Formats: sequence, structure tokens, C-alpha cells
Amino acid sequence: MATKTDYDHLSPEGHQNPPMPWFGMDIGGTLTKLVYFEPCDNETTDEEEQETLKTIRHYLTRNINYGQTGIRDVHLEMQNQSIGGRQGSLHFIRFPTSEMMSFIELAQAKNFPNLALSICATGGGAYKFESDFKSHVNLELHKFDELDCLIEGIHFIDRNNKSFECYYWTNPNDSKLAKKEPFDFRNPYPYLVVNIGSGVSILTVRGPSDYQRVSGTSLGGGTFLGLCCLLTGCDTFEEAINLAAQGDSTNVDKLVRDIYGGDYTSSKFKLPGDIVASSFGQMNHKDRRDRASPQDLARATLATITNNIGSIARMWAVREKIERVVFVGNFLRVNTISMKLLAYAMDFWSDGAMKALFLEHEGYFGSMGCLMEYMRLNQHVNGIR
Ligand code: ADP
Ligand code: MG
Repeated sequence: MATKTDYDHLSPEGHQNPPMPWFGMDIGGTLTKLVYFEPCDNETTDEEEQETLKTIRHYLTRNINYGQTGIRDVHLEMQNQSIGGRQGSLHFIRFPTSEMMSFIELAQAKNFPNLALSICATGGGAYKFESDFKSHVNLELHKFDELDCLIEGIHFIDRNNKSFECYYWTNPNDSKLAKKEPFDFRNPYPYLVVNIGSGVSILTVRGPSDYQRVSGTSLGGGTFLGLCCLLTGCDTFEEAINLAAQGDSTNVDKLVRDIYGGDYTSSKFKLPGDIVASSFGQMNHKDRRDRASPQDLARATLATITNNIGSIARMWAVREKIERVVFVGNFLRVNTISMKLLAYAMDFWSDGAMKALFLEHEGYFGSMGCLMEYMRLNQHVNGIR
């Protein structure tokens, strides 16, 4: 965001910083993600800036919940960060994009639009809601490309998180032995990014600004949640994941052993009996349908979507000759089931050649990158009136 009067911030490197407050916003198909940089260095003598920061501190950084559906992910907060020559903390906040109009009203009620003239935004909603921001609260949206922001956010957070950002799973197939282990991501190239949001985007990254969107699939986190709501009557992502955690997908899927009576072994192929041959393949029989619980259906939906994404990701990794595959996006929030499935599947199907990697800030990279892009903009093209 850019305040009305504050034009004179110079970082120690002599760059002109945009005026505070500094927000990055990623308005996705399902969730809106906000990153806020709260300076803690008392560097400024500017009274207006201090007032602005005080108002924001009073509301944003003192609370954890906002309205009915806004949440600050306190466990992801990054302290002692240096941005634009200022020291402070990065806060991570999310709310459903379907609540965007309530968010705009809330921002208005809290007088936020008077603190700023513009907000930087990425994701589809930066386009969809641009006119609403303008007409309701007179805020200009600075739009940035969401994939540029995603990659920039990954690099920034990985480099600046004081604890490990990147990790992998050991023994992902063993509920007792499965364990998160830190992964040194300092020399990451080349790697594949699989961003699992409402839908899925797959990117190859060969250098800090050398990347391409190579593929995607519409069968993503939104599909999981939508199908799960249809099949089980649940209403939220958390509910869907909780159901899945208690279910058994083998009551729903048709496995190799359901077809072969055991492993499929011939002179040419070998497929273990517990591999899924047909997702939901038992559900054409009424008696099997009657026996499948909502938990089983949730688990099977989660496994179907996850395995499909894993399989597409692996094919792209093979095609691009890439061994490290980084999975991000809010589909992985509170969803260790999918992470372990992906970790196991990548390892199994590649004979150990590929590694599934995960990042702690899951769905926030776009909004983080958006803030970084904003910091780079010369403030005079920021639309300050
Ligand atoms: P987008 O940018 O498309 O909104 P995200 O990366 O934010 O995508 O991920 C959205 C997906 O994350 C949803 O489709 C759902 O699977 C999952 N998800 C995680 N937490 C929530 C939540 N609280 N509400 C809705 N979906 C959630
Ligand atoms: Mg997104």
C-alpha cells in the first residue's frame, strides 16, 4: 500500500522505498493470502507513518481472527527480517476469496483505505476485483503476474527463514516412522514447482528468473474439496481432511489385488497388489457403496486427486530431466496425508531418483513475491495521487 503523503523513504542502498504500509496480496480462486511487513525498528520520525503503523498494529497484528473468516497464521510469522533497509516482522493472513466484499467493507470500517492509496495484488482476483477496490474504497490495485510472484516468494522465504523452510519426508509410507527432515535448498536449480491451489500449475525453474509454466491440471485442491463436499456432505477443508484422516480408500478403490488376487507379476511387468488400479473402482457395486463410509469416500477423493497430481508432476520431471520437485499451495495445509502420498509416490515410481520437497509457508509465496515486486517499483509509478 502507499500512504497519501509519505514520499521520502530511502533504503540504506539509496533506493526509494514505496511508502508504508507494505502489503502483498494474492487473490486466488479460493483463498486470499496477505503478507504484511511490520517494521519494528522505529527508524522513522514521520508522524503520519507512525499513526498508520499504529492503526494497523492495533487491528492486524494484535489479533489472530478477523471478521468471521480471516485468520492470521501466527506459526508462520517471520521475525527479524530486513526489507527495504527496514527491520521488522512478516505476518501471514488468509481469508476466503468469496468473502472479498466483506473484507473490503471491513477495511473501510477500520479506516484502512485512508492509510493508503494503492495495494499490490496478484492472482486472478487482482483482475476480477480491481473495479470493486476502486469503486468501493478508492484503492488502486497494482497487478503483478502470479507466477513471477510465486517464484520470487519461494526464493525470498527460503533464503530468509531463520529456521528451515524446505523439508522432505523420510519413511513416508510408515505412519510410525514417517518424519519431516530439513532439506538444504540453497542451490536448488533446476527444480519443478507444483503449485496445488484450486487448480494446479507446474513450472520448471532453472535459475532465479529462468522459469516456465510447462503444464497444469484442473484436478486440484478445489476438485478435492468440491467432490468431498458432494460425496460426504462436509462443508470445510478442515472437515474434509479430518474425515479423510479416519478413512480407508481401499474400501472405495479397486486395487491390483482386487483384480489379480495378488501382485501382478509377468515377465514384463511387476505391480504390487496394493497399488490402486482404478480409483473409485468399487463404487459401481451397490453393496460396496453401502459399506463405504463418508470417511472412506473422503480418503479416496484425497488419494485420487493427490496421486493424479503426483503422476503428472513425475512425468514432467522425467521429461524435463529434473530430480527435485517442490510442492506448494494451500491444498497441502494441514494435509500430511497428501504430502506423504506424494513423497512415497515420487520415490516409488522413480526408483528413488526423484525427491518430493515441501515448504513451510505452503500457500503464501505468491503474496510474499507480490510484496517484493512492489518494493522494487519506483514509488512515482505507484499511482500516488
Ligand atoms: P488459490 O490461489 O487457487 O485460492 P490456494 O493455494 O490458496 O489456491 O489453495 C486453495 C486450496 O487449498 C483449496 O482448493 C483447498 O483444497 C485448500 N484449502 C486449504 N485450506 C483451506 C481453507 N481454509 N478453505 C478453503 N480451502 C482450503
Ligand atoms: Mg493461487
